[in-house]
Amino acid sequence: MSDDTATEIPAEFLDPEGDAESQDPELLFETSTTTLRQLWAKWMCRKGGGSFADPAIFGRKIGGVPAPAVDAYHALEAALKSAGYAPKSVWAYNCRAIAASGKPSLHSAGIAVDIDPNENPFTPGDKHAGKIKANHVAAVLAIRNTRGTRVWAWGGDWSKPDRMHFQLDVGPTDLDIDWSTVPGGQPSSAGKAEAAPKTAAASTTTSAKTTTSAKSRPTDEEEQVLTKGAGGQAVTHFQKLLLAWDPKSLPKYGADGDYGSETIDAVKAFQKAMGLEPTGNIDGVTAAVLAGVK
Ligand SMILES: [Zn+2]
Repeated sequence: MSDDTATEIPAEFLDPEGDAESQDPELLFETSTTTLRQLWAKWMCRKGGGSFADPAIFGRKIGGVPAPAVDAYHALEAALKSAGYAPKSVWAYNCRAIAASGKPSLHSAGIAVDIDPNENPFTPGDKHAGKIKANHVAAVLAIRNTRGTRVWAWGGDWSKPDRMHFQLDVGPTDLDIDWSTVPGGQPSSAGKAEAAPKTAAASTTTSAKTTTSAKSRPTDEEEQVLTKGAGGQAVTHFQKLLLAWDPKSLPKYGADGDYGSETIDAVKAFQKAMGLEPTGNIDGVTAAVLAGVK
């Protein structure tokens, strides 16, 4: 069934992305996907108040990377380069759900990256059948933080190998890279304590010029919180998304545009399933994660 939806996803994202918990337990994941979602909740779908950076990796800007993760991306780049791998396309941030589980992908927090999806496609069998070979992977997995914890995990180690996919295996406070462990060493662009997040100052300077990015900015509506007693089209919209997530989530009233107790319970169930705090209110993060369910 999840295969049916694959054709609607751009080729760049043909990455079904397994849930670490549903994968072989003896594989090399230290941290469960649920835990990672919680650790990185502030960055989920850019809606939780976390600061972001757009570091240049492999010669192009990678948008939507959490500021604390920038050095890890530079380390990944250095490791792959030193192992002789030069990607043509690299995708990180993408607010979306995992097809199989409906839970938010770690790409939604910018802490997972897909390397050359076209050349490392999701097909069954040999995990090294793509362009990414064992020595490339070993170089990335060698990266440690200053406490000796491995920083990246590889989707190729899942029981259904997702060769293009690397994800961070630690939380935002565990990303002080031990550059002596990084094959290729510390690039000059890395190692600054905190990559500059997008600041108000930056947008002030650009406002003097013609604003080109205004259209793509989130509107204030997305910051509103819907709660009990709300009604109308916005409520109907989210009720439809809840029903798309679980057709049985609103058994009595369906998408009736009324934020009553049935909707509160459905939102709580959804938030629990996504590793979010079950408030029953639709805040920006919940709204964004719901939007990825369609
Ligand atoms: Zn991926």
